[in-house]
Amino acid sequence: MKDNLLGENIRCRLCEDNNIHEIYSGPIRSGGIGSEFKDGYKVFQCGSCDFAFLNKFPEDIQNFYESNSYRENFDYQIDIKSMQNKFDPDLKGRIGRIGIENLRKKIVADFGAGPGIFIDSITSVADKTIVVEPSQIYRKYLLGRGHECYSYADEMLSIYAHQIDVAVSFDTIEHIPDFREFSSQIYNSLKPEGLFYLSMPNLDDLVRAICPSDYEPFYFQIAHINYFNKKTSTRLLSEIGFKDIQVDYIHKYDIENIFQWIKYGKPGSFKSKIKFDRIFHTHFNAEIERLGVASHLFITAKK
Ligand SMILES: [Zn+2]
Repeated sequence: MKDNLLGENIRCRLCEDNNIHEIYSGPIRSGGIGSEFKDGYKVFQCGSCDFAFLNKFPEDIQNFYESNSYRENFDYQIDIKSMQNKFDPDLKGRIGRIGIENLRKKIVADFGAGPGIFIDSITSVADKTIVVEPSQIYRKYLLGRGHECYSYADEMLSIYAHQIDVAVSFDTIEHIPDFREFSSQIYNSLKPEGLFYLSMPNLDDLVRAICPSDYEPFYFQIAHINYFNKKTSTRLLSEIGFKDIQVDYIHKYDIENIFQWIKYGKPGSFKSKIKFDRIFHTHFNAEIERLGVASHLFITAKK
């Protein structure tokens, strides 16, 4: 096999080319905010398709997502209440983008539902809510909330192939080694003309561009093995067979977060004497999203 620019037999997991170069080498975040940074990681990018990826997966990745102890080892919180506090603010943007009218009376499946922030919020409008989530503790909780629960998509597909109206997957695909199979299973779950809403961190992130040396050790994470942008996510979904792929963005942070990174090189909210109000934040985030440099991609695609 021919070696790439790194002199190693590394191939891109999206396009399989070996035109690979290193874009980051150094400590990366081991888990949630405040977790320790770990050495020995590299991030590679494909010069042919733009896809970026971590040089190694967490050890025993299946256990990592199924069991609590593995998650805790990586400083990922499993406490449902604290997860709700952390992720509830994301909900408004997601529901707003999808629109209640696209969820009402629909069969909705959430792939990688976590503690069910999204799916829990739509039970009163959707006809049926289905969850695919490997974590036992989250599944137990979500079963109690009235959702139909499956550990993995293949189990769910044996019952629901070609029956789902709306599939969603938020902040999940960046964790999945075989993201092509994952996307393909979502495609196969959908009815013809069914809609897929996909969101994950954006490689072309504004803060990464402005202060890479402070931000990259925080942005790159042990559990995030894949890094997508507009080009790579569009390529993946179109290769799976999705049509009408619309790439949009959601910026989850405000201008004070950017000031904090620039001034102190760490996450948080910069204490400014200037009063930035709701209208300012709305316009600021809308502009960051319009330019395609937001923290997260938000993609709509049709089967
Ligand atoms: Zn590639």
